[in-house]
Order: sequence, then C-alpha cells, then structure tokens
Amino acid sequence: MRLVLLGPPGAGKGTQSAAIVEEFGIPHISTGDIFRANVKGETPLGKEAKGYMSRGELVPDTVVNRMVADRLRQADAESGFLLDGYPRTVGQAYTLSGMMAMLDVDLDAVLHFEVPDAELEARIAKRQATDGRDDDDHEVFKRRMQEYRDQTTELIPHYRRAGLLIAVDALGSIEEVRERVLGACREVQTAGR
Ligand code: AMP
Repeated sequence: MRLVLLGPPGAGKGTQSAAIVEEFGIPHISTGDIFRANVKGETPLGKEAKGYMSRGELVPDTVVNRMVADRLRQADAESGFLLDGYPRTVGQAYTLSGMMAMLDVDLDAVLHFEVPDAELEARIAKRQATDGRDDDDHEVFKRRMQEYRDQTTELIPHYRRAGLLIAVDALGSIEEVRERVLGACREVQTAGR
C-alpha cells in the first residue's frame, strides 16, 4: 500500500503512523524525522535544513524532493510506504507523481487529518512541554501553521480531484483516531485488491 498522510502540525500524523506501519508492514517515511536526524548528526543536509526548520519555514522543494527520491528507491519501499509530511507543496506533489511514474506504481490514498486550529495549539503546547521540540515554540508554531495554510492546503483539492483524498476526523483520543485511521486504510487495501 502506498499512502500519504496530510494534515497540519500537531494533527497526530506521527503518532498514528506507528499503528499503520505496524498493521500493514510498510516503512514510515517522515521527512521531518529524516531532517531532524540529519540536524542532530550535523550532516550537510542537516546544515542546509536547520535554519528553515528553526524558523518554522518549509525547506526548499529541491532539497526535500531529492531526499525523498533517494529514500523511495531503497529496497524496503518497493512494495509500499507511508509518507508522513510529504508532499507539502503542489510542486512536491507533482514531483512525487513523477517519481511514482518512474517506479511504475500509483498512490493508493491520501489521508487528510482534520483538526480544528484551537485543538492544534493545545496539542503543540503539550508536545513542547513533553518532547522539547524547538519548532513547537509558540511563535515558530504560528509560522508553521501559516506555511501549512499558504502552501499545503492547496493539496486538499488537488488530491480530491485525483480521487485519492480520504478525510479522517482526527479529533478525539489517540485510540479513537487510530480506529478511524486503520479503518480507512483497511478499506483502501480491500478496494485495491
Ligand atoms: P514535521 O516533523 O513534519 O512537522 O517537519 C518539521 C520541519 O521539517 C518542517 O517545519 C519543515 O521545516 C521541514 N519539513 C518536513 N517535511 C517537509 C517538506 N515536505 N517540505 C518542506 N519542509 C519540510
């Protein structure tokens, strides 16, 4: 299965990814996690991404696209993957389509996590207290939300037109949302058979 998770920062994409990956045995490809690992390891990619991330801005498409293209060519992604946090711009979405065409595969679904803004702020404040992520700082979070509205929400009509969008109500307990997410994935899998 080839899935994309789409949703604002704090929507629970990372948390729910764990359940999907476990049930469907596909690799979790989180561009945010890859960037954070590179920042921590002080690699050239990490050095390039760090400034954008600390300001809550998107890393330029060329950098992200190259990184994802490399990752999708790895053997574990051959039979499926869960993309979390990519694509985030229409340009990235077109690049992803191109990569999939080259690999002669198709996306099965784009799960859109729907959460009201007020709830996101509360979740992010909580995450900052527990995980200590710099980009969960209030001002940086506002910038990340702005980037989401300006650049990423365009992907919702884009994937709806492609017939791939599935809305998931991401409000509720982690367990409640997990059941909805897994239910949607099971339907996608059944439809694909
Ligand atoms: P995330 O953990 O998905 O919220 O990503 C953390 C940060 O990494 C974002 O605020 C961006 O600076 C950067 N990032 C992650 N994925 C992307 C992407 N697809 N395009 C551009 N920047 C990204």
